[in-house]
Amino acid sequence: MTNLISSFEQNIFCFDANYFRKNFAAIHFVNQNNKILIVDTATNHSAKRFLKTLQNMSISLESVEWIVLTHVHLDHAGGAGLLMKMCPNAQLAVHPRGVRHMVNPEKLWASVISVYGEKEAENQYGQLIPVDENRVVAVGEGEVIRFQNRRLQIFDAPGHANHHIVIFDEKSKSFFTGDAFGIAYPELTNENGEFIFISSTPTQFEPVKFDATIKKILEQKPKTCFLTHFSKIMNIEKNGYELLKQIDEYVTITHQVRNNHDNQQERIRVKLFELLYKKAKKVNLNISKREFGNLLSLDLSLNAQGLEYWNNRKSK
Ligand SMILES: [Zn+2]
Repeated sequence: MTNLISSFEQNIFCFDANYFRKNFAAIHFVNQNNKILIVDTATNHSAKRFLKTLQNMSISLESVEWIVLTHVHLDHAGGAGLLMKMCPNAQLAVHPRGVRHMVNPEKLWASVISVYGEKEAENQYGQLIPVDENRVVAVGEGEVIRFQNRRLQIFDAPGHANHHIVIFDEKSKSFFTGDAFGIAYPELTNENGEFIFISSTPTQFEPVKFDATIKKILEQKPKTCFLTHFSKIMNIEKNGYELLKQIDEYVTITHQVRNNHDNQQERIRVKLFELLYKKAKKVNLNISKREFGNLLSLDLSLNAQGLEYWNNRKSK
C-alpha cells in the first residue's frame, strides 16, 4: 500500500490528498466487498492522484458506487466532477442545498474567483466539472445511504456551512464529519489526545447551529470521527466539549473587536492565535509559537475572515 493511504477498522481508509500540505485534507473511502464509497474528494489535482492510487491498489473505477460530499467547499468537493466523470457507476450524494452547485458549478466558481482571482483559483482547484443531474442524489436529515451491507445515516449539520451533512456509519459506529466537528492535525496530537479547534471559515458560520450540530453528533455516541482535516480522532466526548466551549470563545473574541472597525479581521486573528496557543501549552504540546503559527496560518486567516463576516452580517 502506498504511504498516502492509511487503513482503519471496518475497511475504512484515508488518502492524503496532499492539498496545501501533507496531513491537511483527507479523502476517506470504504471498501466493502470490493465496492467503494468515497467521502469528500479534495480538489481536481488531488482527485487525479487519488484515482491513480486506487488503480495501484487494483480497485477498478467501475467499482465506485458512491461519492458522498460533506459539503461543497472546494477542498471537499472540488474534485467531485472529475471523479464522477471517471467513475461511471457512481452516484453523487450531497446536501439538498449543494445539488445545484454540483450540477452547475458556475456560481460556486465565480465566488472562488472573487476571492482568489481566476489564475490562482485554477492553480488551487483546477476547472470544476459539472455533474449530470441524473446521477446526483440529494440527501438530508434522516436519510440513509445503503452501500453493500452497510447503512450510513445522514444528519443535517449546519454551523460551518448550511450545505453541510455528517455521515454516520453504523457498522464502525463512526462519523465522517467534514468540517462540522472541528479540525485536528496529527502534528498536534500527543499523549493527552488530539488538539482540536473550530473551523469558522466564510461565509456561513452560525454559532448557535454549530453548537446544535456538535451536540447531535455526541448524542450518537460515536467511537470515532473521521475529519477531513485530518482523519481519525478518538476521545469524542472530550473533543466535543472542547469544541462547544470554543464556539463561545470565538464569539467572545469577535464581540471584543466589534466596536473597532480598524483592522477587525487582523485583531480577531491575533486573538484567535493567542487563545489556541494558550490551549496548546495547557495540554503540553511541545511546539514554538512560530511553528504553531505556521501550521495554523491558513486556518487562522480563514477563521478570522469568517468571524468578521459573521459579525458584520449580524450587525446589519
Ligand atoms: Zn468547509
